[in-house]
Amino acid sequence: MPIRVLSEQLASQIAAGEVVERPASVVKELVENAIDAGATAVSIEVRDGGRALIQVADDGSGIAESEAETAFLRHATSKLESAAGLEAIRTLGFRGEALAAIASVSRLTIVTRTAEAAAGVRLQLTGGVVQSRERVGAPPGTVIAVSDLFFNTPARLKFLKSATAERRAIDEFVSRYALAYPHMRWRLAHNGRIALQTGGDGDLRAALADVYGVETARALLPIRETDEYAAPDLPAPEPSAEEEPEPGGAPLRVSGYVSPPELQRANRSQITLFVNGRWVHDQQLTYAVIEAYHTLIPSGRYPLAVIFITLPPEDVDVNVHPAKAEVRFRRPRAVFGAVQRAVRRTLLDSDPLRRLPDNPFDEPAGPARALAGDAFAWWRRPRPEPEPLALQHPDPLPPAQAGETFGRPASPPTPPLGGARLPILRVIGQVGAAYIIAEGPEGLFLIDQHAAHERILFEQMLAAAAARAMPTQQLVAGQAVQVTPAQAALLEERLDWLAGLGFLVEPFGPGTFLVRGVPALLAGADPGRALWAAVEALEADETPLRDTLEAAVLRRVCKAAAVKAGQLLSQAEMETLVRQLEACEVPHTCPHGRPTLIHLSVAQLARQFGRT
Ligand code: ADP
Ligand code: MG
Repeated sequence: MPIRVLSEQLASQIAAGEVVERPASVVKELVENAIDAGATAVSIEVRDGGRALIQVADDGSGIAESEAETAFLRHATSKLESAAGLEAIRTLGFRGEALAAIASVSRLTIVTRTAEAAAGVRLQLTGGVVQSRERVGAPPGTVIAVSDLFFNTPARLKFLKSATAERRAIDEFVSRYALAYPHMRWRLAHNGRIALQTGGDGDLRAALADVYGVETARALLPIRETDEYAAPDLPAPEPSAEEEPEPGGAPLRVSGYVSPPELQRANRSQITLFVNGRWVHDQQLTYAVIEAYHTLIPSGRYPLAVIFITLPPEDVDVNVHPAKAEVRFRRPRAVFGAVQRAVRRTLLDSDPLRRLPDNPFDEPAGPARALAGDAFAWWRRPRPEPEPLALQHPDPLPPAQAGETFGRPASPPTPPLGGARLPILRVIGQVGAAYIIAEGPEGLFLIDQHAAHERILFEQMLAAAAARAMPTQQLVAGQAVQVTPAQAALLEERLDWLAGLGFLVEPFGPGTFLVRGVPALLAGADPGRALWAAVEALEADETPLRDTLEAAVLRRVCKAAAVKAGQLLSQAEMETLVRQLEACEVPHTCPHGRPTLIHLSVAQLARQFGRT
């Protein structure tokens, strides 16, 4: 084939691929344009996960009639004049690509009017080509309706995820922007039903409540704002040449809200970061936040955070990728350090007990100090999930090896107990409100009450689910549970499926569900917590090959419902628990693979006491 310059239309379609990956990216670009246009209210209407329609209406500046067509040309922007401007971007857009890209892969209608104009203008474009233009009456602002997305790029269309997945992505994105711009009124509807609506009174806490629910919002801790200077005070493990601190430094502000350590999430997706009002996806910054919780929350659990970083636009390069969700910092270490310090300080300030008495832990994060902090933590605050004894065995743990913790690493393993099942045990008592001491024919057993109960519930629930006989316990008064819009979408899709697992749940207004019944096997557990665990499992979407979604969900639900460490048990309760554990197929590990018990054989005891 001879070499040819691509037609403008084909070039736009190819370039569009980078900007408009999926319906959520259309929403993102249109919403960012509305923000740049100074809108105070944005209303987003989505049909069929964005395939059928995405419509974004704003009350911003509008586009002058004479410029309406220009806005749809590639590299046409009102936000950048010269190369110098590129050094300090103050708007969300600047590449002049979005409208051209979106128009080239859809049928698009725009109605726009500036405040000064007597009337608005309406353009219709198909595949980027203007089909019609007329003057129309319209309020000041802009409405862009995108339908039939990717109608002319079948390859893209084929790779689109399900409507639900797209809906989730859109929900997450709009929620984020509602948080970053709390003084704007936001409204998002899917197929005519409202998913998110905010008041726009500028109160971030109120916006947090709109997105995460009142309870979560109430629990969040405001970051104590600090003006830092991105400057030389950082502990620098290795001096880096390109990161020259400036004399005096440049102002760097960190603000927002973070969850107290008790409020945890199963994944890091609810760590939301904004740099100069732009939502960014930055693994290192995310990691800085997680690090600030070091020793305060168990590994594998994550905080919820909404963090705003403000710094001079010269100090951050946003022109890294067409989608503009990645940024480069001029002094990355200073930024990560400031974020970590701000979060850590907030956590320690919020609860004096998190501090060490002799070591006001103001400046964070040397690992040694962090460890010292943890050494005292255990008696100061009841930890939600205490580690089981400091055993780090691969699972499943042959119980005989548990003796290793008692200071004899190489003790010859005692023969395993008869089969995988447990022998009959006699309950002696409870220690530390966490472990049951029992005696068996072959020695002493220490049982982790939480892990053991988790195992019991898990096996009972799995068996009931397999037999399709999962009785439901109706709740006298339903319990309302608030979820994020993305979680609401997931839940709605799974209501019937959850009913099969014994959860009677019904929609109860935007972002709220009412738990009317729980699996009878979990009676006594907190229904809200149990449902939350199910939602988290659905969200995590962890269905490894061997596993079913059902098992993944039940595993988390049982963990949430199991008796906790710190709970005193009566003799009868302990006996029941041990009897049920004896009946389990896999009594030695909890459903997550941690040991449920430690066995010290009579022979081991004799050895420990120097009798042999
Ligand atoms: P960019 O945002 O990078 O400038 P776009 O292609 O997204 O590029 O938009 C092109 C131009 O159209 C913008 O620079 C702006 O002048 C105008 N524009 C787009 N959307 C809006 C809107 N909602 N309100 C006012 N002007 C808009
Ligand atoms: Mg734009």
